[in-house]
Amino acid sequence: MKQLFRCTLAVIFAAAASGQPQTPLRVNGQRIGDHLRALSRFGANPQGGVSRVAYSEGDLQGRAYAITLMKEAGLAVHIDEAGNIVGTRPGSDPALKPLLLGSHIDSVPMGGNYDGDVGSLSAIEVAQVLNERQITLRHPLEVILFQNEEGGTIGSQALGEGLTNAQLDLVSQSGKTIREGTRLLGGNPDRIAAARQQPGSIAGYFELHIEQGGRLDREKIDIGVVEGIVGILHSDVTVEGFANHAGATPMDERHDALLSAARFIEKVNQVVTSIPGTQVGTVGWLKVEPGAYNVIPGKVVLGLEVRDLSEEKFVGLFHRIQSEAETLGKLNQTRFSFTEPVVVHPSLTDAGMRKLIDETARSLGFSTKSMASGAGHDAQEIARIAPVGMIFIPSIGGISHAPKEFSRPQDIENGANVLLQSTLDFDRR
Ligand SMILES: [Zn+2]
Repeated sequence: MKQLFRCTLAVIFAAAASGQPQTPLRVNGQRIGDHLRALSRFGANPQGGVSRVAYSEGDLQGRAYAITLMKEAGLAVHIDEAGNIVGTRPGSDPALKPLLLGSHIDSVPMGGNYDGDVGSLSAIEVAQVLNERQITLRHPLEVILFQNEEGGTIGSQALGEGLTNAQLDLVSQSGKTIREGTRLLGGNPDRIAAARQQPGSIAGYFELHIEQGGRLDREKIDIGVVEGIVGILHSDVTVEGFANHAGATPMDERHDALLSAARFIEKVNQVVTSIPGTQVGTVGWLKVEPGAYNVIPGKVVLGLEVRDLSEEKFVGLFHRIQSEAETLGKLNQTRFSFTEPVVVHPSLTDAGMRKLIDETARSLGFSTKSMASGAGHDAQEIARIAPVGMIFIPSIGGISHAPKEFSRPQDIENGANVLLQSTLDFDRR
């Protein structure tokens, strides 16, 4: 705060010295806070958060409210074929591709009031400030609120790699298929391919988002500069032993699949933490057969997941886990087998945009930290077709996807100011 004050003063003095007594260009933090509170009414749950799942009544109401704000900010609003809300503002150089700012306003069931909403309303605030100051950027500006982020980054995927028919037939949290939901939002699932953007057709995409983890809060850092969105590897692991009488089989004659699985879970933790870095590994579910008090478990199937920004690293960890499992199996007289791993590739942000965000944030007096995002975001889909930059602000206590999710008004204002200045700096390049 002190740093920010000093910096703001410097800007005012500099402006005064040059004979232009203009106040520096800043977002209106109070206004963003008011909009966040107003948006939180739609799909509100009794616990103080929102259950604004895509295609629900709350989602439709929230979108209608956001469209009002976008129009007030001087944006020309339309719904694209994928059901995304797009607000455009013309630029001065017709040769330039559009610069996109965006996020989402749908939530998980029993979600909070900040995930997606902070970035969406801040993007609208940037347009509002430009409108009030009558600033025309060189690039056309597009504020985009992607539909159904929480159900699998649907709206942003429609712009990026496109959606398959099978995806359109998936049933979403609302009970409607994505095809039905897209139509309900004003999109056209029959022409959804028209929403796809060619690589190179977007100048850049900025997304402001809450961290959803606790690192910025714990380390008292103002702004996270996102290096990328981590990749994920899944595999189902089967441990086969021999089901036998739990009373009559001596301890040294058992082929206990669950005991082996327990040792495996411990081993996953050891392997993942054996090297430096922010990689994570989890066994998130377990099925035990036959599952009775008096029978030694004969078979266990469990879900293994490993995540990191480097695919080479998480694939390497997976192979080490496999070889440890083989050793464990021999020791415990059980047999381990793994299904072919399912991999979601990591998505990296653009080095130039990272540098720009970092320099912009520091020039505003904020502390910064480079970090990976462990959670998925719309930015990961846009990164497949355009350079993206992502800005994180602290999540208090690292709580997210829950009604207790919270980010301080000052942190939100800081993030929105970084978004505004990054937009201006990007446009000047
Ligand atoms: Zn989100």
